[in-house]
Amino acid sequence: MKKFWRCHVCNDVHYGVNPPEVCPTCLVKKAYMEISSEEAKKISGRSESTVDKVDFRKAIEKFSEGNQFQVNPDKKRVETLLEGIFNCEKNHGMKYCPCRLITKNFEDDLKLVCPCNFRIHETYKNKEDGECWCGLFIRRQ
Ligand code: SF4
Ligand SMILES: [Zn+2]
Repeated sequence: MKKFWRCHVCNDVHYGVNPPEVCPTCLVKKAYMEISSEEAKKISGRSESTVDKVDFRKAIEKFSEGNQFQVNPDKKRVETLLEGIFNCEKNHGMKYCPCRLITKNFEDDLKLVCPCNFRIHETYKNKEDGECWCGLFIRRQ
């Protein structure tokens, strides 16, 4: 079962079955201890103000680079979706998908943090011109 882990040196949070052997941020060995999802939520909430819409836009571009998908070239659509994602963050504390409803169960709602694992969506998987549920990402042609 996946759990949350926190680097006691630099506060990196890791979510996984086991913690990383070496912290990827501060490079300290055996630095992680298990924490509650509430603590993880509070720590990740702290970074809210440091990733603005421009940074997020750059991050999704970078994430798509060399991948089988790209950010939708329809700029207006992307702008509207980013607006929705940032409203979710303001109202619910995380960058949740603007097209789906959160359950208020933190672990369940982690599946709705953008970008989600959209490659498993029907709207993406079986289609040549597949896209994520909201159309923020589309398959590269
Ligand atoms: S469906 Fe698209 S917009 Fe929604 S969370 Fe997933 S990647 Fe983001
Ligand atoms: Zn660390």
